[in-house]
Amino acid sequence: MAQNESVDVVLVGAGIMSATLAVLLKELDPAITLEVVEAMDSGAAESSNPWNNAGTGHAGLCELNYTPQAADGSIDIKKAVHINTQFEVSRQFWAYLSRKGGFGPARDFINAVPHLSYVEGDKGIAFLKKRFELLKQHHAFSHMEYTEDKSVMQQWMPLMMPGRPADQHIAATRVLKGTDVNFGALTNKLLKLLGDSPAAQVKYSKKVTNLHRKGNGWTVTIKDVNSGSSRDVDARFVFLGAGGAALPLLQASGIPESKGFGGFPVSGQWLRCDNPAIVSQHQAKVYSQAAVGAPPMSVPHLDTRVVDGKKSLLFGPYAGFTTKFLKHGSLMDLPLSVRMGNIGPMLAVARDNMDLTKYLVSEVMQSMEQRLDSLRRFYPEAKAEDWRLEVAGQRVQIIKKDPKKGGILQFGTELVSAADGSLAALLGASPGASVTVSIMLELLERCFPEQTRGAWAAKLEEIFPAREKTLATDAALYQQISAANDAALGLGEAEPLQHAEDGQRQSV
Ligand SMILES: Cc1cc2nc3c(=O)[nH]c(=O)nc-3n(C[C@H](O)[C@H](O)[C@H](O)COP(=O)(O)OP(=O)(O)OC[C@H]3O[C@@H](n4cnc5c(N)ncnc54)[C@H](O)[C@@H]3O)c2cc1C
Repeated sequence: MAQNESVDVVLVGAGIMSATLAVLLKELDPAITLEVVEAMDSGAAESSNPWNNAGTGHAGLCELNYTPQAADGSIDIKKAVHINTQFEVSRQFWAYLSRKGGFGPARDFINAVPHLSYVEGDKGIAFLKKRFELLKQHHAFSHMEYTEDKSVMQQWMPLMMPGRPADQHIAATRVLKGTDVNFGALTNKLLKLLGDSPAAQVKYSKKVTNLHRKGNGWTVTIKDVNSGSSRDVDARFVFLGAGGAALPLLQASGIPESKGFGGFPVSGQWLRCDNPAIVSQHQAKVYSQAAVGAPPMSVPHLDTRVVDGKKSLLFGPYAGFTTKFLKHGSLMDLPLSVRMGNIGPMLAVARDNMDLTKYLVSEVMQSMEQRLDSLRRFYPEAKAEDWRLEVAGQRVQIIKKDPKKGGILQFGTELVSAADGSLAALLGASPGASVTVSIMLELLERCFPEQTRGAWAAKLEEIFPAREKTLATDAALYQQISAANDAALGLGEAEPLQHAEDGQRQSV
């Protein structure tokens, strides 16, 4: 019988996760052989596509759900600090690749866009002020500004101010040092680096249909989407970076660690505006608070996007429901993922999340006029003709076993790995692409412990002079690393809007 082809590593999916892991592995061990297998005919065709996500470089600067308020009024900033330092780790990797050369201009994928939080009413203002006072004491947020002054807000977010009731109480915070990231462009740059390196292949229109154990590794079955023919490839390590479709592949692996996981798909939609007269009046990502009962990934925001050198505005997301695990997936994805091992947790989640169900039903039933009303909370003078509805990417939220409740719905990401370190899968979506590098470093520590402590340690230290915990506690080092990253990525602070001579505000 003919021998299967054999590589060290197979990575399923050509999104930001697989692309990052593959390039990291090649930096750490140039001799490693690997194959990225992608079902679509290009990279970043699902959630990592710039129009399928919001492109926020999540650094905890504006997302109010990263600083939850307890019933006693206290605010916990731990999550905001953690995500901020994770993003700084991502930036270290991108800065390293930019300095090394052959990666092209960082401006192709990352641009400075101020991050703002905006609230209404006395309760919202009290929360924002308290949050600001806590965050400001931490070195990662020392540049944060706070205002209740409408003339200052007119400078910060001019599009959002006209048409508001004169007596409306509002407040905002701003950090100029926020970013918009085109994760699609970044993914494709990483894939190009791989394509240029020896013993690394990126194969499109090839779908992984099955995998099974072989010795200490795996045999992966790969189907050619066009011809229908299949081939088997042996690998010592497999990464399931298939986005929403990682769950069924993890189930197919049969590893005990996969048992009990289920998925709950939530789709999304945006309102998008490309009208230059409107776009030029907004240069910010403005996040506010989610409606009661809304899941955390539904916090509304009005965003400047920079894609292929052009600016647009996005508002949303509006949640939706479908049973597909990928935008290009099948309606059978959800039903086929039900197993004896996860039906209990899935039913428990259905029972305990009636608020979410009601929220999703109300979102799905919304008319365009109702969607515009949500936008007008941010931009009171918004006109229907300037905005069009677009479908965002698919997020599959994690359902997992819980000893007390039977099952819980989790809104973060979860790395699931086999005990012997031969396979890992990434489930969930948020905060997602921004923290990819930290997630992949965790994967390396779990699945390649000897190499990360031994042969790869020096290179890891060269690429990542400071990791999350150190960045969170060492202010001087944080400022030094952050400034070095800014320099390598060509990022200064975002420039605020200026008055043009004709009196209209223009972005610069
Ligand atoms: C609406 C929305 C807004 C978001 N906003 C942000 C944001 O502002 N900031 C942020 O950091 N993150 C954001 N995210 C999250 C971010 O987009 C994701 O975390 C990230 O893109 C996931 O990357 P991935 O590589 O895991 O998956 P994907 O990019 O989805 O890639 C998975 C790939 O696997 C392929 N694939 C699937 N099954 C197979 C198979 N069997 N064989 C071969 N290939 C397969 C798919 O075709 C796809 O190309 C958002 C997500 C959504 C949906």
